[in-house]
Amino acid sequence: MAIRFENGIVSTLGSDNRVLWNASVVTDGEQIVAVGDAAEMKARYPKAISVDCEGKIILPGFICTHHHFYSTMARGMGIPGEPASNFVEILERLWWKVDRALSEEDITLSAQVPLIECIRNGTTTVIDHHASPGMRDGSLDLIESAVRVAGIRASLCYEVSDRNVEGGGIAENERFISKIGKGDGQIAAMMGLHASFTVSDKTVETCVGIARDAGVGCHIHVAEDAADRKDSIEKYGIPTVKRLHKLNVTGEKSIFVHCVHIDEEEMQTVADTKTVIVHNPESNMNNAVGVTKVLTMLKKGILVGLGTDGMSSDMLSQMRTAYLLHRLATLDPRVAFMEAPQLLLQNNADIVERQFGIRVGEIAVGRPADLAIMDYRPPTPLSNQNFLGHLIFGLVDATVDTTVCKGKILMKNKKLLTMDEERITARSRELAPLMWKRLQSL
Ligand SMILES: [Zn+2]
Repeated sequence: MAIRFENGIVSTLGSDNRVLWNASVVTDGEQIVAVGDAAEMKARYPKAISVDCEGKIILPGFICTHHHFYSTMARGMGIPGEPASNFVEILERLWWKVDRALSEEDITLSAQVPLIECIRNGTTTVIDHHASPGMRDGSLDLIESAVRVAGIRASLCYEVSDRNVEGGGIAENERFISKIGKGDGQIAAMMGLHASFTVSDKTVETCVGIARDAGVGCHIHVAEDAADRKDSIEKYGIPTVKRLHKLNVTGEKSIFVHCVHIDEEEMQTVADTKTVIVHNPESNMNNAVGVTKVLTMLKKGILVGLGTDGMSSDMLSQMRTAYLLHRLATLDPRVAFMEAPQLLLQNNADIVERQFGIRVGEIAVGRPADLAIMDYRPPTPLSNQNFLGHLIFGLVDATVDTTVCKGKILMKNKKLLTMDEERITARSRELAPLMWKRLQSL
């Protein structure tokens, strides 16, 4: 059934962003079939269902290229003892306990809550990195089910690590990758690894072998903190990226998350192998690990994307943080105005294309019908010339009204249509304190 999202401002994005006033986007099934003047679209598609977008801007759905759904229940949890004074302590005292304490139902709820937040923020595609050593086998199926009910797209993987048991998670990834195969455009699979400092050469080699055979990439945290670089140099005599490259983890389908502590030679290896880097500015600031040299990486031709690392599901806010962070870090008010939006709007779409084999992030005929429709009445003229100014200083604070993915309306007039937010959050509030209690004894 065709739908006319009509009478709004359309910003097509893509390589040639067009801003169209009094315009409509027409979808049919899972695809966009027409974009243009509202009156013309109404004449061409008179039988299509009408969704009025007056006072709104219609954008392609947003993409998050690194998320951790499983982190949900840590929100508001107190951690006993002295505050963690460095990154490794944050992992040991917080995240490596949260993941072990999760029950089967916690995993589902931990996915459902951020899925609601994705829909509320117009985020329609996510690349997630999951961990639950206490309930590992089958955990990716639980998340897959939650994603399918929510209606967005997600690439899933389990983070392999030797820290609880040697090669823990390899079998879960292997099973899930073979189940998903090439994927259906909604769910994709990757080989997940935690980080260089928690995986042996043998574990990495096994993971890479499985990933290569299946034609998928590896999704791994790289040099997030100086400790990961130090560990690699001490144990293997080479820095993190060099070690991972030697073990064949690099490649155009692989995602190296963070890369805060890599040198220029390592950046060159990343560029030469077309490996993806995903930048997570809010997380890096929260963990006080340092500033990724994103501007240098882009100059070297590296495909750098933008993720939230579980901090939120709000990609516009993450984009603005990147914009602000790199201006401050370089003490240069000329930078990041183009680059921060580029990470979110173009590079994330390029990364998704490598993972899912589909081109999202653009409103054009034949593209997937993934839309974020936001309340926005521009207080100054808006065109393709000054779109980025409106994005960074206006849209970042605008509210998403309607979210569409695969042609299906997931939220309309801010009302969720696929998920029961009241029930899910109530149950999560019930189970979270039990998880916190279990965690105290770990
Ligand atoms: Zn992460």
